[in-house]
Amino acid sequence: MKIGIYPGSFDPMTKGHLDIIERAACLVDRLIVAVLINPNKKNGLLSIPDRVAILEEATAHLANVEVDCFQGLLMEYAKLKEAQVLIRGLRSTSDFEMEYNMAQINKKLSPSLETIFLMTAPEYAYISSSSVRELVYFKGDYEWMIPKAAFNKVKNIQVEG
Ligand code: ADP
Repeated sequence: MKIGIYPGSFDPMTKGHLDIIERAACLVDRLIVAVLINPNKKNGLLSIPDRVAILEEATAHLANVEVDCFQGLLMEYAKLKEAQVLIRGLRSTSDFEMEYNMAQINKKLSPSLETIFLMTAPEYAYISSSSVRELVYFKGDYEWMIPKAAFNKVKNIQVEG
């Protein structure tokens, strides 16, 4: 059985993430979408349980997708889950540079884990969690960037300023 992991912050999940999940789910038997718990990033928009709940609702139509969260080294988590494939999305050359470095290090740490990059769909190329967070903060329209499950949670967040 081919097991894939798609890790990220998903703060919040966007339509770009959903597109990558739907496409990756066709490539593996089981896809684990894993929310990274980063203790150094305390000022997130959404709590980890909220991020997980959104991902679960937005991927409910995909039978081979499950959602989890993890802390620590991704390579250790991948071993624990017996994953053979790591999924990453690519939007731009700046994504590429960062992902290239990470993939090289990950390969060194875990030679049997293969990283697969999926190119963003053009309609989602400019969508990022950080731009959604900015629009939430400045009260701009971000509904078109995120799945309904995410909008239903994010719209209730009160931001100061
Ligand atoms: P972001 O980079 O938006 O903060 P994450 O850290 O949660 O989001 O990203 C997880 C993975 O999803 C990364 O591989 C990232 O490149 C990819 N990704 C994020 N947004 C998109 C998008 N719009 N299209 C394709 N891939 C994306």
